[in-house]
Amino acid sequence: MKVNKADIVISAVSPAQYPNTGLPEIALAGRSNVGKSSFINTMINRKGLARTSGKPGKTQTLNYYIIEDAFYFVDVPGYGYAKVSKTERAKWGQMLETYFTQRDTLKAALSVVDLRHPPTEDDVQMYEFLKYHSIPVIVIATKADKIPRSKWNKHIKIVKDTLNLREEDEFVLFSSETGEGKDKAWSLIESYLKI
Ligand code: GDP
Repeated sequence: MKVNKADIVISAVSPAQYPNTGLPEIALAGRSNVGKSSFINTMINRKGLARTSGKPGKTQTLNYYIIEDAFYFVDVPGYGYAKVSKTERAKWGQMLETYFTQRDTLKAALSVVDLRHPPTEDDVQMYEFLKYHSIPVIVIATKADKIPRSKWNKHIKIVKDTLNLREEDEFVLFSSETGEGKDKAWSLIESYLKI
């Protein structure tokens, strides 16, 4: 998809604020700092639309970006920050549970992980959660530019094995720096949007 039009619509704190246009949604899940904002910016060719490197754990909101008036990227707040209080963590968990289990317009989730390291316990739990709720997943293993090409296969295998990636789910090696994987990511996303 060639994107000319992209805007942030809302940082929603409660389901009442989610858009009611009925347009399809692609969610992004991943640890804080894994590269979700950079992924969005790379996909839509805009440097600063999605906020990168925000203060960890500050956003307990779902950030909706509308793309070409056709669908939404929904940036789900990052997990895996110990600093967040127990109460905040519980609230965050509740929000995600509600979103992922009740959002009819959600077509697929992008599980964003760091190619350099084995997926964390949180990454695995999120993937299992999505699978449990029958949500199609595309794994985006980002920061590929930080690993020499000769080692890509080894890292890909570690990511897939650690997640126990299912047959039906897709995997994309990605870099926001080089644009590696961008075309593949678009074609997979489009297949879920049927556009
Ligand atoms: P978010 O918290 O998941 O939204 O993560 P960000 O998109 O803010 O990225 C966190 C940091 O990783 C920033 O300093 C980015 O510049 C960097 N980063 C993200 N993606 C890549 C990538 O593909 N390659 C490299 N080298 N750095 C990246």
